[in-house]
Amino acid sequence: LRDADGTVRATIFAEMSALAAQHDAINLGQGYPDEDAPAPVTEAAIAAIRAGLNQYPPGRGTPELRGAVAEHRERFFGERRDPDTEVLITAGATEAIAAAMLALVSAGDEVVTLSPFYDAYAAMVGLTGARHVTIPLEGDDFQPTAAAIDAAIGPNTRMVLLNNPHNPTGSVIAPEHLARIVAAAARHDAVIVSDEVYEHLVFDDAPFTPIASIPGAAERCLTISSAAKTFRVTGWKVGWMTGPAELIDAAMAVKQYLTYVNGAPFQPAVAVGLGLGDDYFAEQRRTLAARRDRLSAGLAAAGFAVSPSRGSYFVVADAAPLGVSDAKRYARELTVERGVAAIPLAAFDPRSRDARIRSSLRFAFCRTDGQIDEAVRRLTSGR
Ligand code: PMP
Ligand code: GLN
Repeated sequence: LRDADGTVRATIFAEMSALAAQHDAINLGQGYPDEDAPAPVTEAAIAAIRAGLNQYPPGRGTPELRGAVAEHRERFFGERRDPDTEVLITAGATEAIAAAMLALVSAGDEVVTLSPFYDAYAAMVGLTGARHVTIPLEGDDFQPTAAAIDAAIGPNTRMVLLNNPHNPTGSVIAPEHLARIVAAAARHDAVIVSDEVYEHLVFDDAPFTPIASIPGAAERCLTISSAAKTFRVTGWKVGWMTGPAELIDAAMAVKQYLTYVNGAPFQPAVAVGLGLGDDYFAEQRRTLAARRDRLSAGLAAAGFAVSPSRGSYFVVADAAPLGVSDAKRYARELTVERGVAAIPLAAFDPRSRDARIRSSLRFAFCRTDGQIDEAVRRLTSGR
């Protein structure tokens, strides 16, 4: 977490956002939406503050929000969870992942993630003293292979930390691979933690399969999600986990000493969001899919080899056809000289030797059409 000189290293998101601001670049790096949250959600938070909901909420989260999370899981994914014992509200998905990991993983254990992976995962594995093992995503669609799944998950695996839909690649892991992961985790008695913060951002009318819905998974799986992406409130840091009571209890034991509780006035507002009609969720998906298409076409026109994005906020573009082999350097160059910021894919697995990871960039399309068009203009014809 520190550089060689002892200074604390900024995350790649903070670093690239600062560089973008400094050079007045269009920021297609950090994944946060340009548009505000739906009005009923923000109004509910304002009303909650005015109503005096400003003190510690209950430790597991307000009964109202836990109930809304349970209803939401049943409505969209057919999963039934007891809001009293099988739901925990957390300070974003980030705290949920940290609490699960600190509760369940010890030094010397192995934690398996996909590669590339969300940057916080490696840092959290580091905090536990466990060994980080990865399953590489391969092909244009960034999927794991059966052989890689079986090779990574073994007798020392304590936790498989999955992320689906996947940041940074925009892939959605196929159900047959999820089933293979469940079988391997069951064989070695490993816990599955699935970070599904982009569960509602799956495009082209494709269904989304939560891994907890695969037979044999529910009893060993914690599913994590968050209000951040679904309701465009990345600054609120309200997340949740659902799963069997013993695993929830274990995470709760740690959560109470991490933040104790969080987000009192935001909890009722997120409950309002979870209860919005199907139209809200469908419309957000449609809007984002159109932006994905707009940016993907522009990146292809600018000479990148663009991978299909099936979900999330992100699309991967390989700069190898532009003669680039080191996308880390190229990302800085693009920001400073062209005025467009993106994240080098290598930031999501610095140890990877995969040439495509080293020459690719992650672009965020959760931006207005105007921002996307201007970014594409700069990439194709300069500032
Ligand atoms: N997991 C993934 C895969 C993410 O992309 C993010 C970033 N938003 C998070 C977790 C963090 O979510 P939160 O802001 O709810 O902590
Ligand atoms: N999740 C966002 C991303 O991947 C940003 C999170 C962060 O800034 N830590 O871009």
